[in-house]
Amino acid sequence: MAVKFKRTKIMASLGPATDNMQCVEDLIRTGVNGIRLNFSHGSHQEYERWIEWTRTASAEVGKPVAIVADLQGPKIHVGELPREGVKLEEEAEISFGYKADYSESGVIPVQYDLSQKVNPGELLFLADGKLCAEIVDVRDGIITTNIKVGGKLHSRKGINLPDTDLGGDIITHKDYADIEFAIEQGVDYIALSFVQSGEDVTLLREFLEAREASVKIIAKIETNSALDNIEDIMAASDGVMVARGDLAVEAGPEVVPIAQRHIIGLAQHYGKIAIVATQMLASMTDSSQPTRAEVSDIATAVVCGADCLMLSDETATGNYPTEAVALMKKVSLYAETNSPVEPKFINMEDQTQGSSIASAAITLAHQLQAEMIIAETASGKTARNIAAHRPQMPIIMATTNQQVAQQLAVVYGSKSYYFQEAEKAGLQAVQKQQEKGGLEPGNLVVLTYGEHPGVAGGTDTIKVREVQ
Ligand code: PEP
Repeated sequence: MAVKFKRTKIMASLGPATDNMQCVEDLIRTGVNGIRLNFSHGSHQEYERWIEWTRTASAEVGKPVAIVADLQGPKIHVGELPREGVKLEEEAEISFGYKADYSESGVIPVQYDLSQKVNPGELLFLADGKLCAEIVDVRDGIITTNIKVGGKLHSRKGINLPDTDLGGDIITHKDYADIEFAIEQGVDYIALSFVQSGEDVTLLREFLEAREASVKIIAKIETNSALDNIEDIMAASDGVMVARGDLAVEAGPEVVPIAQRHIIGLAQHYGKIAIVATQMLASMTDSSQPTRAEVSDIATAVVCGADCLMLSDETATGNYPTEAVALMKKVSLYAETNSPVEPKFINMEDQTQGSSIASAAITLAHQLQAEMIIAETASGKTARNIAAHRPQMPIIMATTNQQVAQQLAVVYGSKSYYFQEAEKAGLQAVQKQQEKGGLEPGNLVVLTYGEHPGVAGGTDTIKVREVQ
């Protein structure tokens, strides 16, 4: 009997709560497959340290871990406010100004000059939409608002302007500097924030290709335009993230659950990675126990077939980071075992050699009740094609490219292994599984590989093998 394994992957954001090597290792041991560096907070010095710890811990634990550099994008933030924050009372008149000094003027500082872009009547949301103000006047660079939903506002909280056309490129100067840094550091994915169209992704792709960087792209879906252009964005990227925090503010919270299902389904159709993010276990930031609704939210994402679930504040600033990971794993395992994903989104028109081999391997594996599928993969494409079918059995992905192994760590149902020798990497993987107790004599495995191991796009063979 194969070992129990978690098909849905977990990504954890690092932050002050996990800012030590032991914490990072604990997260990975407990079930984390991907680490997210949030470039809206922190410094290059911090990310460098976290990348080093992640790589060391991943080697120590013996499992590949994907590192995602999540760019800030054109997100506008509030500037520095008093340490205790500022209370915005309902119906109060509050002003915002570019780089204002709150202690001197009582005007809330903003890190970007919005006064040329906004108009009276538009809404301005603060702190992930928790606070809301209506713009009533714009004069001499100062935006005057009437507070509709009040509350405490703290330094550097985000601002959303769903009614305002901000125009321009979504990749900022800061983002470009962060991308150069991320490439240099060898991260596995770049997450592009506030994507509006497929062209935004293509622009980043060209920038990466010009630098011969093999880092992959995750498009964050968090605007109305992204929802409108979702098919183009999906086709242009390697994966998508349902960034529910900003999406709820921009499109309305009621839109998010339905958009999430649609996006997860489309990602399977296109053979791309789908990550569900934000507030999955928000209450576990302060409590050791989740709410019933959070548990249900995780189970829903798993049953829909998401590749990966992401933790944000829970692991970055929360009091129970490893507990949150352990809980997410437990809920995922239960849902996967008791309500398997029904893959109904497969792209039947895609009849490339790779996708056809993936379909055939899945059919064989199911009909023969094979214990696992073992895919030799050079670029990760065959492995992702197989995973898009959401098979019940584990997909062991054997590659000679360390970065591909890391990138595959957040793909549904995968267990990726790096082998130095391309020759018979699949058979080496079978042996490894036997040693780990995942395979026993008499078990059947389905192998996919190519005549020339290690060559991308070369998968041309399927073989059924009985374990001796
Ligand atoms: C989100 O908005 O849900 C998200 C993941 O993006 P960020 O945390 O960067 O705002």
